[in-house]
Amino acid sequence: MLPEGELRSIYLHWTAHGYDEVFPAYHFCIARPDDVVVHHTHDLCENMRDVRLDPALPYAAHTRGRNAWALGLSIASMEGSTPSDFGPSPLTVAQLDGICAVAAVLARFYGIDVAAISTHAEAALADGYFGAGSDELRWDIARLRPSPEPLEPVEATRAGDWFRERIAALIVRAR
Ligand SMILES: [Zn+2]
Repeated sequence: MLPEGELRSIYLHWTAHGYDEVFPAYHFCIARPDDVVVHHTHDLCENMRDVRLDPALPYAAHTRGRNAWALGLSIASMEGSTPSDFGPSPLTVAQLDGICAVAAVLARFYGIDVAAISTHAEAALADGYFGAGSDELRWDIARLRPSPEPLEPVEATRAGDWFRERIAALIVRAR
């Protein structure tokens, strides 16, 4: 059961932890690599407001400066990952399918336009903290498989487009 209310955007993340660790900084976490399990980790109602007006009240703080009326979904994966080595818990196809399915259900229910769905990497790119290799930088989810090539900003946009296309197709199919 989803609560009624106003939500305007959705941000897609990975946790940078293991397959079984979930966090209340997101509203939903997609855990397990193959037999995926969707964990509801934060009350959606707490982000149905301009969180900047009353930052002391609890809310899911998933995307810096963009948490007002915004949902955060995250794939439990990518612990210790780098763009060239996704580490012991790489993103899986089942998890990517899972986050798209969850995003489609939420976008439909709350009337969120697919254009208002983006990755954390896209937000980071727009807000000046895109990249890998430091605690302040973010690149989730700019790359779907590891590559020795240097991480380029355009990858954030390309991956975001890939997600929006897939989510849009799921929304159409559900109509
Ligand atoms: Zn993130």
